[in-house]
Parts: sequence; C-alpha cells; structure tokens
Amino acid sequence: MSKFNTLAVHAGQDVDVATGAVIPPLHLSSTFKQDGVGNMRAGYEYSRSGNPTRANLQTNLAALEGGSHAFAFSSGLAAEDTLLRSLLQPGDHVVIANDVYGGTYRLINGVFSKWGITHTAIDMSDPEGARAVIASTKPKVVWIETPSNPMLRIIDIAAMVEVAHASGAVVVVDNTFATPALQQPLSLGADAVVHSTTKYLGGHSDVVGGAVILQNYTLAEQVAYLHNAAGAIASPFDSYLTVRGIKTLAVRMDRHSQNAGAIAERLQSHPRVENVFYPGLPSHVGHDIARAQMSGFGGMISITVTGGEAAARHVVANTHLFTLAESLGGVESLVEFPFAMTHASVAGTALAVPENLVRLSVGIEDVDDLTDDIVAALDSLDSLANNA
Ligand SMILES: *Cc1c(COP(=O)(O)O)cnc(C)c1O
Repeated sequence: MSKFNTLAVHAGQDVDVATGAVIPPLHLSSTFKQDGVGNMRAGYEYSRSGNPTRANLQTNLAALEGGSHAFAFSSGLAAEDTLLRSLLQPGDHVVIANDVYGGTYRLINGVFSKWGITHTAIDMSDPEGARAVIASTKPKVVWIETPSNPMLRIIDIAAMVEVAHASGAVVVVDNTFATPALQQPLSLGADAVVHSTTKYLGGHSDVVGGAVILQNYTLAEQVAYLHNAAGAIASPFDSYLTVRGIKTLAVRMDRHSQNAGAIAERLQSHPRVENVFYPGLPSHVGHDIARAQMSGFGGMISITVTGGEAAARHVVANTHLFTLAESLGGVESLVEFPFAMTHASVAGTALAVPENLVRLSVGIEDVDDLTDDIVAALDSLDSLANNA
C-alpha cells in the first residue's frame, strides 16, 4: 500500500475514465439517470445519498486516517452531531476532555442535554485519574481532542483508549489540530476520528466542512444511515476544494510545524510573555507524549501575556501580518483572542480560558516576517503601559 504523501495526492483521485482528465471532474448534478427503475450506472441515484465528487473526498479521507469508511459533512459540527446521534440514545452519558473545542461543548451541553444525554468534563491528561470517573459513569462515548484548542494540552490517546475500552466506551478523537499528516488516532486504537476540514485539511480558509472516519463496519452503517437520513452532507464544490487542499497537506504541515516551532521558541524569551503553550517545546508538560504519538507538533501556539485582558486585546489589534480572525489552519497566519472570540461560549464554565490568552495560527509565510510581526506587537505593549 502507498505511503501517506502518495495517498494524499492520489487516493480517490483516479484519472477520469471517460475523458482522461487527470483531475476528476466536479459533479454538480443533483440526480442521476437510471437505465430502467433502480438500474444505476455507478450506484449513484441522488446527490444527498451519494455523489462522485464527495465519494472521491471520502475515499481520500479514509486512506489518510487509515480507516475503512469516511463521511464528508457540511461542517465539523455537523460531522460531530451526526456521529453522536449515531452512537447515543436518551439516557446515555458522554465523557469529554475538559478543554474540548467550544462548539463541541456547546453541542453536547446546549443541544444534546435537551435530548436526555448527560456529560462529564474531565482532565484527560491524567488517564489513571480518568479511570475512576469512566468506570463509575459508564459513558457510551469518550471524546478526546489532542492537541486541544486553545490550550494545546496533550492527551495520551493509546492510554485513554485502554481506559475507555475497559468500560466499554466508544472513543472519538477530534484530530483537527494535528491532522493525519502528524497523528493517526485509529492506529492508536480510537474507534472514530472527526475533523473540521475547514481548518488544515482544506487549508486555504475558503471552505467549511467536516468529516467522520471509522474502521468499524457496524458503526459505519449507523453513520451512513444518518448522513443520508439527516442530510448534513458536504456539497460537491466543497468536496472538490477540500480534496484540492489535501493534496498539499503533508508539505503544509511540515512548514506550519517548522514556523510554529521557531516562533514558540522565540516567544519564550519575550519579557511580556508569561507562558508559551506549544507541544514542541521541551518545557511543555505533554511534550514527551506528543513526541511519541505525533510526527510533528503543528502550527498552533497559544501564549499568555503580562498585563491581563487589556494587553491581550492590544496584541491581537497590533499585528499586521497575522490577521485578526477566528478559525485556523490556513496558509495565512491568524491571531485571535479566545476569551471574547472562539471561546466566548464557554465563559463561566469548566472550559473557560484565561483572559490574557492570545492564540496564533501560524501560516506558511516567511518565518522571519512572522516573528518580527508578533514580536513588534508584544514590544508595543510597553508603550501602552507608558501611556496609561
Ligand atoms: C473548528 C473546529 C471544530 C468545528 O468545526 P466547524 O467546521 O467550524 O463546524 C471542531 N473541532 C475543532 C478542534 C475545531 O477547531
């Protein structure tokens, strides 16, 4: 079987049989001619149920994560919703890591709770500590996110899988931050992987999408049913853009990791930086586990700055190359203030983030330009203090 870099370019991207087109055509058709009732040419009937462009993306995603089945959705949260509804029934319990993506928490806490699903949020950086909670609450699902957003905490996937499986739970890993280029949870024993393909997989900040990847046939049948029955599918054009992005995933992740590593190291010695959260730094508490389960540390860095909320707001307003915006994972660098932006929905909960936190999505621009930009914004904090 081909290796990762080859699969990224070729899986699901066969030359078009009819025309020889090297890039498979974008199939916008909503419906497919039947040669007699129920006699489909390639199994396609109606584009919610199945579409060739979406199928190409799904083949690619399954190959990259080492799964047997993949499903492409209209957003990461649509993927999570469909997966959870496939797995859960009223009365079931879910155990989630205590700093999962804010939207994941909102979905479980704000939506699923109304349908009789309870949850517990726990620190999964200590799998042995999690064992007692999981044994006593008997969750149907254990939800892992590593590295986490925005604190870049690392969870030992294989160790948590052992703990969760010992209690009969299904393990889901949100692999959005690492991507399969750096981390492959199914190979570490996880049952399902979810992605916001909006981020690194799409990679160019021009498409919103999500994915579920599985290697269990029964689970895949349940997800396939709800994918069609509830219909939160990826459109053909979104599927096309996502596959186009994935072809360069491995080279992008290399550069994201290189740039972020250099910037994280530089920021550690800046006098206005309290803490740098980046799993590639030897000082990071999860560094050894990250080294063992990841082949690179990715492009996301969070820092806390001295001077509290006002200082953090000043930094994000004073970069020029890093654009102030939510989202992450594109080739262009972004900066944001999680407390009032991406993580505003978890304020006051166990998932609340520090008010002096700044999150960087380090792009693939020149590393010196990027470093100068963020360092200048931090340096300008001193003039802020003088003017005050
Ligand atoms: C963005 C994100 C999601 C949600 O995906 P959408 O495509 O925005 O719906 C889920 N998990 C993580 C880690 C994310 O960063």
